[in-house]
Formats: sequence, structure tokens, C-alpha cells
Amino acid sequence: MIIRFEAPSPWRERGVHLLELVPEAIVESEPPSWDLEVKVELRGQILLLTAKVGRQRDRAIVPASSADFQRALFRLLGKITDSDPSPWGILTGVRPGKVAARLLQNLSREDTIVRLREQYLLREEKAKLLVEVVGAGYPLLNRRGVSIYISVPFCPSRCHYCSFAAHPLARWQHVLPKYIEQAASELGKLLEACRAYQLPVNSIYVGGGTPTSLAPEQLAILLAPAIKPGCEFTVEAGRPDTITPRHLEVLGGLGVTRVSVNCQYPSEKTLQAIGRNHTIQEFQQALMAAQSSEIGIINSDMIVGLPEQTLAGFIQGLEYLICKGVQNITIHALSLKRGAKTQHQYLPPDLAGEIAQAAYQFLQERDYRPYYLYRQKNISANLENIGFALPGTFCYYNVASIAESEPVLGVGAGAVSKLVMHNRIETLNNPADPIQYLARSQSLVRRKLDWLRHSS
Ligand code: SF4
Repeated sequence: MIIRFEAPSPWRERGVHLLELVPEAIVESEPPSWDLEVKVELRGQILLLTAKVGRQRDRAIVPASSADFQRALFRLLGKITDSDPSPWGILTGVRPGKVAARLLQNLSREDTIVRLREQYLLREEKAKLLVEVVGAGYPLLNRRGVSIYISVPFCPSRCHYCSFAAHPLARWQHVLPKYIEQAASELGKLLEACRAYQLPVNSIYVGGGTPTSLAPEQLAILLAPAIKPGCEFTVEAGRPDTITPRHLEVLGGLGVTRVSVNCQYPSEKTLQAIGRNHTIQEFQQALMAAQSSEIGIINSDMIVGLPEQTLAGFIQGLEYLICKGVQNITIHALSLKRGAKTQHQYLPPDLAGEIAQAAYQFLQERDYRPYYLYRQKNISANLENIGFALPGTFCYYNVASIAESEPVLGVGAGAVSKLVMHNRIETLNNPADPIQYLARSQSLVRRKLDWLRHSS
């Protein structure tokens, strides 16, 4: 739907995210033609909002405050399109849990749910879900310490929906030895500084890309500085076609405590349609191999919103994971970004919403608790991504990184460091391009070491 949006600053910036909640919305100031027109006028201390579709026109007049404006615009959009723009109301950010956590500091769970509904216009089921997630995850968080994120930005091939920095491995073989050496050196220096300043490392997370697209011996060199770290140590082994028993043996020897093995949806047709070059059998074999390794906790991701998906097929996929004893199951909703090959959602929003709802209920009835949650733009049916886990197997890194409760030190190309300075979070990006990373990493490491020295 093309939306013409006319509003003075800062109301334009405050309103555009809400307009983007309309399915397939393209928001512009002066499109040659449009399906919906929204205009905001500031008249003294008052805002006049007008929305128009064809001959139908609706209006709202509200005080010129950010919260009043967003609520009025959200309601106006619902009225004019005759639909609820998002179950998350005006909470359009990535981390709605931070809002709930702040409210929970002074309010009971019941009052927080009421506040989320009335002030932020969340649907009741989302308000309840959010309070449950924060109640489960936040108590895990430590008061002191850092987490470390190690990026391995290579994959055997690119999934059609991918927008991550995932370089095709075959094209980068020539820089791999240097890359691994540099990233291992960065990791070693940061860990050494943490030890020297007695700063606890609460978790280490190796993501990407697909870390297991490296050969086992390369992974061993990269992660050697972190061997047996005495904290949660996760490695994403997302693509089953990259995992071998030798990988798992090496990771177990390094003290890895958690590994992700992902199928996304158990249908060969779907896997082909989204460009994942592996079979269901390869996934099942990789899962079995992970379970017979030393690594204690297995995560598996499923994605709502993939082609050919059905509710029955999704539940069958979950049943399989549960019966295989997978302790962590993360339910993503397909989110489409500019860098991805896929540019349109595959499933109608009603079906995607129905699958997600049924999946959450299915997991909760089997003792899997939702413990971290985040949202993305252009996400199927305006849903969310949720980590479910059996009690005692929650992933610390996932909770801490979404809560932004502690500094994260990023290692490798594309890794983002989040450094807390004077109660502000400052981000420091390692270049996503491996060659650029090799050129600049020394100076970036120095900045992180400076930060560690000053914050100790
Ligand atoms: S495995 Fe993950 S990171 Fe790699 S291409 Fe697919 S979606 Fe992207």
C-alpha cells in the first residue's frame, strides 16, 4: 500500500514507524499516486491528524505530545484501514521488554499489563506475553561483567531471506587464515584484559554467518583463547550441512555449553524455496550428532512465515524437536530487509498469526517458557521473535543482549560492541568486510582495551 505522509518535523519521524505497520506499506512524501493519505498539521499546542482513503476521511485532534500523537495516529490508521495495525500497539521498537521491565520496577504484573494496554495500546495477549518474558529472563542478569560476541561472517551459501553479513565462504578462502589469526588475537587480548581488571565474562556467543562453516581445526584456532571459559559458551551451528562429528568434538573440547542446529521448517519444498541447501535428513543427523556430543544444551530455530507452511506442519516440526529432547526452541517470524533476495512475505498475516499463536501454546503446554523476545521491522504479521526454553536452560547471552543490560565486546568482522559509558550505550562497529576488518582491527581493539581500562 502506498501511503502519502505529510507532517512537519518531528512528527514525521515519530509517525513514520507507525505507518510502516500497515502491511506492505511504502511511505513517501510526494508519491505520484497513493492508496492512503495521512496529514499532520500543528496548530499552536494542538495537532490535527487527517487520514483519507478514497472518499472516506477520518480526523483526530490531540495535544501536541509524542504519546498522544502516536496513540491518535495508531487509532486513526486502524479506523481508516478497518484493521488493527499491530498487536504491539505503538511499541514499534526492537526491545519492547525494556518498556515492560521499566514499568515492572514500580508496578505489579497486573498493573503493568493494564498500563501496556492503555498507554501503549498492546493487545492483551502481547501485554501478558511480554510481562511473562521479562519475569522469566531478567532475574538471570548479573549486576557486573561483560559478554563477548564473536562473529564468523561466512556461510556455505546465502538463504533467500538473509540480510546478515554472511559472505560466501568459497570466495573468501584466501583470507581465512589471516582472518582467523586476527580475530583470535582480538579475542585473546580482550579476555586477558577482562582477567587483568577482574571483570567477569558472563557469556561468550559465537554467531555469524555460520561459525561451523569453518573447518574444525580453524574453529579450534579461533576459539583457543576462550577455551573452557567457565561461563555459558554458545556456538551457532545453524546450517546442518556444515556440521560434522569432528566439529562437535572440537567444540565440546573447547568447553562449548550450547549449540544451535536449525531446520527452520521441516519441508524439503520450503527449504528449496528459501535457498537453504540442505535436506531434512541432514538436519536430523546433525541434531542427533549434537545430542550425542559433550555439549549440554541444544537450540533449534523455527521460522513462521515461510513458503508452503501450514499450521499442522509447524506443530509437527515442534513435536519432533521436543521428542528429540531439544531444550531451547526459538520461534522467529520472517522479517524482510533490503539486503535480502526475498522482498515479499510468503504467508497471509492471518495464517502466520494463527501458526505463531498455536506454536506458543503448544510449547507452553509442554513446559517451555518464553524468556527473551525482540521485534524487527517488516516482520510477518507484525509478530515477534521469541526464545522458549525448558527451566534451567535459558541462554544468558540472549537475555542480556536484548535487555542491553551489560557491555558486549564484539570480535571479528561485522561484530558490534556495546560499551556502557556514563549510563549511555555507545556502539563500536567492526567493519563487516573481512578485508576492511583486517586493516582496522588493531585500532578498534585498542579502543576496546581503553574502554576496559577506564571502566575497571
Ligand atoms: S545460514 Fe543464516 S546467516 Fe547464513 S545465509 Fe542463511 S540466514 Fe544468512
